[in-house]
Amino acid sequence: MSQANKKTPYEIAQEQFDLAAEFMGLEEDLRAILRVPKRELTVNFPVRMDDGTVRSFTGYRVQHNTTRGPGKGGIRYHPGVSLDEVRALAMWMTWKCAVVNIPFGGAKGGVIVDPTPLSLRELENLTRRYATEISPLIGADGDIPAPDVNTNQQIMAWLMDTISMHHGHLESAITTGKPLGLGGSLGRSDATGRGVSFTVAQAAKFLELDLDDAPTVVQGFGNVGSVSALMLHELGCKIIAISDVNGGIYNPNGIDPHALIKHIKRTRTVVDYPGCDRVTNDELLELKCDVLVPAALEEQITGANADRIRPKIIAEGANGPTTPEADRILFANNVMVVPDILCNAGGVTVSYFEWVQDLQSFFWDEDEINKRLKLVMDSSFHAVNDRAQAHRIPLRQAANILAIERVAEATRLRGIYP
Ligand code: NAD
Repeated sequence: MSQANKKTPYEIAQEQFDLAAEFMGLEEDLRAILRVPKRELTVNFPVRMDDGTVRSFTGYRVQHNTTRGPGKGGIRYHPGVSLDEVRALAMWMTWKCAVVNIPFGGAKGGVIVDPTPLSLRELENLTRRYATEISPLIGADGDIPAPDVNTNQQIMAWLMDTISMHHGHLESAITTGKPLGLGGSLGRSDATGRGVSFTVAQAAKFLELDLDDAPTVVQGFGNVGSVSALMLHELGCKIIAISDVNGGIYNPNGIDPHALIKHIKRTRTVVDYPGCDRVTNDELLELKCDVLVPAALEEQITGANADRIRPKIIAEGANGPTTPEADRILFANNVMVVPDILCNAGGVTVSYFEWVQDLQSFFWDEDEINKRLKLVMDSSFHAVNDRAQAHRIPLRQAANILAIERVAEATRLRGIYP
């Protein structure tokens, strides 16, 4: 498909919605409400840089739906951020929160920036000014940001401090993914990758796939990719290839993710890790394996490469890594795709636990958090998989149907104001 014909993430999110809405016979008025975001904010704002110059940045915060609870979703710093991408990510957040049945709606934010060359002070200035610009939407009952690509605990701390300074008191429940010393939750930083491994374990059980030494490939080695690799390694999987933005490494005898993390602390990239062959990100996706975890960005598995991607399980750590055309090919090829809105919902689930703990000022131990996370992920996997098997439809469609049903029911019950 040419670049001009390439669908945007938002078009893909709407196509997935339409497919599920059609299958379930959703009323036209509800379709019209749910296939577009409720609220979109674009902000253009100046930031003073270390050399005294002022640079202008553009950011967004989109709330797709808040019928079942406050908007919830991460903030991304990336040069490729666009309003269209943020809309798609916000919509997927609505369905994700509904699939795991937590009382949140869907939102997302982003700033068009490559944060890597910025100094810590420039990053703080940018974060505090962006937080101020989007502050009319943000609040523990209104919209609760979290980390996403290129944002982390420190950025959540600055964001929370900025809004708290405006309000004149600590507002710890307005973001999640915060540092532990500021009302963060135990288990949050590992939660998305841990949840990925729980869904892989359930999918493997269903497929009667032995995970011991199962060749496993992970694309992206940030928060989600690195923890997924560690947890899958713990389950017995043999991690044979890993990549980051600079490229990939491959060793059919297995790569120890613990040693790789130590290596990255020194070199900041996976690519020159010793004892491995180099592969490109495209080659990596097509390696023969049982489990493939895309954990980088959107639209990695497309109509152009899907037929050559033949693992038993694709566990979508990333949001939106597979296009609808690829979904059709993978389903025909019997590849089980555990969709993003289910597979990577561990992060938002523990974000929900963090929000509950902050509101109550009462904190749980890590064991309790991980046990509760497992209960949510396992039961959600089974609810989706049972639906998929009963109707012989892909897991993504089943997950979307389950989620849309819940949001549609809440909308009908609340009614249309005024
Ligand atoms: P991150 O910034 O910690 O890591 C991103 C990783 O992807 C890095 O290793 C980076 O080098 C790599 N990468 C970037 N561009 C790439 C490319 N073109 N090819 C290959 N690798 C590339 O981000 P993260 O928080 O791990 O998020 C990764 C994905 O998971 C995103 O789609 C995000 O929306 C999704 N997600 C994150 C969370 C969370 O809790 N952090 C929760 C749910 C979903």
